Amino acid sequence: MYRTRVGNVEIVSLFDVYFGFDPHRVWPTAGDRLEAYRDRLEPNGDIGMDCLCFLLRADGRTILVDTGLGPESGGVLLDELREAGVRPDEVDEVIFTHLHGDHTGWNMDRATGQPLFTRARYLVPEGDWDDQTSRQLPSSSFSRDIAPLQWMKRMELVGDGHPLSPSLTTVHTPGHTPGHLSIDVQSGGERAFILGDVFLTTIDVEEDDWSGMFDSDMAQASATRKTILDRLEADHALVAGAHLRAPGIGRIVRVDGRRVWQGVTV
Ligand SMILES: [Zn+2]
Repeated sequence: MYRTRVGNVEIVSLFDVYFGFDPHRVWPTAGDRLEAYRDRLEPNGDIGMDCLCFLLRADGRTILVDTGLGPESGGVLLDELREAGVRPDEVDEVIFTHLHGDHTGWNMDRATGQPLFTRARYLVPEGDWDDQTSRQLPSSSFSRDIAPLQWMKRMELVGDGHPLSPSLTTVHTPGHTPGHLSIDVQSGGERAFILGDVFLTTIDVEEDDWSGMFDSDMAQASATRKTILDRLEADHALVAGAHLRAPGIGRIVRVDGRRVWQGVTV
């Protein structure tokens, strides 16, 4: 759990789980160029990623961005939320950056079959909803975590430019998934950006054209990544990424002419 503030908005980073991947699978076209990043890999050669959710307290509202991978994976989101002093029934809105299973896992209380965030409205990216519901077989996590919210009348579809509060607005950032949303935070002359999976690791900041195997449309994901990185660097915005190592908060800066990630010091 890590807490920071941008203007009048509080941003709390909440850890759920860790996962490691073979970097040659993550970036299938990178090949030998990965050698330059050996120091970013784990001792076993994996690229390590955390699965993070972000709690925003803004304009009197408590908003949870993404709900992690869930209880079956040993996730600790609820412990982190408790440490932050927030009960699940205090969350007003849950918004998903996209509908992959590592962002929706804690939606439903496994014991009751009811939404775990008992009072919350669940805001679902419409492009991802359309994508999943047009498939013959939606993903298993969609069927488990999202579809019940519709018949329970607990969800609402949102797209680009949706005002979550006076300080928080959604931004359509497609590529990782068709409907992927980020959240632009503006308060007291300061800016932050809740990134979702626009980029996953610090390597993507430096190699923004490497194709990522998790992106549904690699060319569009790369174009979005470049546009957003330009914007974040120019705005000097605080950035919160869902799969950077915890707390996953930092800025995009230029060092010796090269764009790099600069994490906050915890
Ligand atoms: Zn993800």
